[in-house]
Amino acid sequence: MKLHQVAVMSGKGGAGKTSLTAALLKLFPEVIAVDADVNASNLPILLSPQRLTEADYYGMDVATIAAESCAACGQCKEICAFSAVDQQATGVYAVNDECEGCAACAWVCPNQAVSMVPHMSGRKYVSQIRNGYMVHADLIPGEDNSGKLIANIREDARTLAAEKQIATLVIDGPPGTSCQAISSLTGVQLVLVVLEESLSGLSDYRRLAKLLEKFRLPHRVVINKGGLNPALAAEVELAIVTHGGRQVASIPFDAEIPKCLSRKETLLDMKDYRSVVEEVYQQILPDA
Ligand code: SF4
Ligand code: SF4
Repeated sequence: MKLHQVAVMSGKGGAGKTSLTAALLKLFPEVIAVDADVNASNLPILLSPQRLTEADYYGMDVATIAAESCAACGQCKEICAFSAVDQQATGVYAVNDECEGCAACAWVCPNQAVSMVPHMSGRKYVSQIRNGYMVHADLIPGEDNSGKLIANIREDARTLAAEKQIATLVIDGPPGTSCQAISSLTGVQLVLVVLEESLSGLSDYRRLAKLLEKFRLPHRVVINKGGLNPALAAEVELAIVTHGGRQVASIPFDAEIPKCLSRKETLLDMKDYRSVVEEVYQQILPDA
């Protein structure tokens, strides 16, 4: 079974990516959703999935010092490039929260007092939605490794797809063009970009489109909050063509949409937008 993977992305936060994704997900006969915005996972809020399993996520090993074996020579502190080792009042050394797991201190310690131990940096979940499953996660605030966590839950999603014989995987990506975005894009066949019709939305779209060009990923575009800046409309359309995208829909700025979302409804529940979402759905199917 060939897995069709689509990522829904936006250059900036607040563009309406997750609200469109939630509506699109409801149209698939069977689907696995991945909420790859592990710093601010919002898809579960809109779709209220039923949690099936959850597990700790260990992103990397960090150093720990056994005080009873420490000879207080200070070599670990000296070599640490991250200021992650402190001398305690008792004279021995201890690792603080800044540890980046490079293991240099373990390498130099003459007493083998340093061990590298797994460090929990988040929780990951598999939940049930009406027509499939949702794989999602929460990174603990302040923790690194969000890109690794996204790669990890995407692997979980692919395994689940194979087990359940589900052929479509839709990723609600994080906003921006950081390593989290890259981690959400690798291996997908198509990207749906939600472009807010504003100056910042256009600027961020250009950055995202350049990233997609590097990955040679085709992309379709939904303009959201259209009409906010009519003077910008032609420039937005030109940018999409210039970057090889294809505009598939435009959703106007409408104050009723946030009210609909606050009732935990989606665009499908608004009669003016149901057909728009259905058209976008057709455009992200395999071979569309
Ligand atoms: S290098 Fe080892 S023995 Fe020296 S201060 Fe660090 S932990 Fe203690
Ligand atoms: S593992 Fe690296 S970053 Fe962490 S305390 Fe040791 S030297 Fe510093």
